[in-house]
Amino acid sequence: MKLADLYARHELTLSVEFFPPKTDKGEENLFSEIETIKRLNPAFCSVTYGAGGSTREKTVELVDRIHRTCGLEVMCHLTVVGQSKDDARAVLKKLQEKGIENIIALGGDPPQGTVDWQPHPDGFHYAAELVREATVLGGFSIAVAGFPEVHPRAESRGSDLRYLKEKVDAGAAAIITQLFFDNDDYYRYVEDVRKLGVVVPIVPGVLPILSAPQVRRFTSLCCAKIPVALERELVKVENDEQAAVQLGIDYATRQCEGLIKFGIPGLHFYSLNKSYSVRAVCKNLDL
Ligand code: FAD
Repeated sequence: MKLADLYARHELTLSVEFFPPKTDKGEENLFSEIETIKRLNPAFCSVTYGAGGSTREKTVELVDRIHRTCGLEVMCHLTVVGQSKDDARAVLKKLQEKGIENIIALGGDPPQGTVDWQPHPDGFHYAAELVREATVLGGFSIAVAGFPEVHPRAESRGSDLRYLKEKVDAGAAAIITQLFFDNDDYYRYVEDVRKLGVVVPIVPGVLPILSAPQVRRFTSLCCAKIPVALERELVKVENDEQAAVQLGIDYATRQCEGLIKFGIPGLHFYSLNKSYSVRAVCKNLDL
């Protein structure tokens, strides 16, 4: 089923994000985590595209395997960075041939070890161009990324919001947000996006924290802030992974309770390929 139809149902649309593992063992673990996640009856799962387009073949292969063998709807991440327009078109064609209907079209993170985002000499510069390309090719339901705390490379909050609208005008059916830890950022974002006349679902991306150093690394990369109260809790679990996981579950549960009360179309969980915390949060929420 297409994203647009999934979000049109009058229920909370759960989705879970995975990344392509580096080893065969990691891949088998992933499929066992997917089987566990399926018990939550998510509307779909998604597979990321490695930084700099590094997992192009692997991502498509995994998406195809999930589509064929898991009985679970899937969304393929696809980025413009590190590949030519023809490469991007070839991936879209391959997905089309394999019957994959859902994609999230993204600018992409720069390759690992680099900080500067450089477009490929023959590539697209912005995600909006990829949305246009996929729309013209046809048959896709397309999501795009949204940044409640403003994208780090944006000229301003206003320009970031205008370019988001450009992606929706180009054919995007849903916006999935970057992780955030202060719900007020999401509420303000929704208000501002709606003021521009954008009506598509704005789905919050939620990360159940798994470790203190890891969440600090993630937030520094995507420029999301860690609220003071959360930072105080993180310090207490600095060297205790189990306690950090429990903190992550408790915090994400409270965050989701607030979001659900506000009225959201769905929840997109950044699982980091581990189902335990996502399941625990959903259990706490009676989902
Ligand atoms: P764009 O929409 O292209 O925007 C990038 C920047 O350019 C923004 O600052 C925007 O304001 C600005 N901009 C846009 N259009 C213009 C224009 N015409 N002129 C001037 N400035 C413009 N990264 C990966 O590598 N792989 C993944 O699988 C992946 N999955 C993600 C999933 C989600 C839900 C999210 C939220 C992010 C994901 N990312 C992923 C990270 C994302 O690709 C990066 O943050 C990237 O830098 C921005 O992507 P974008 O799609 O918003 O890009």
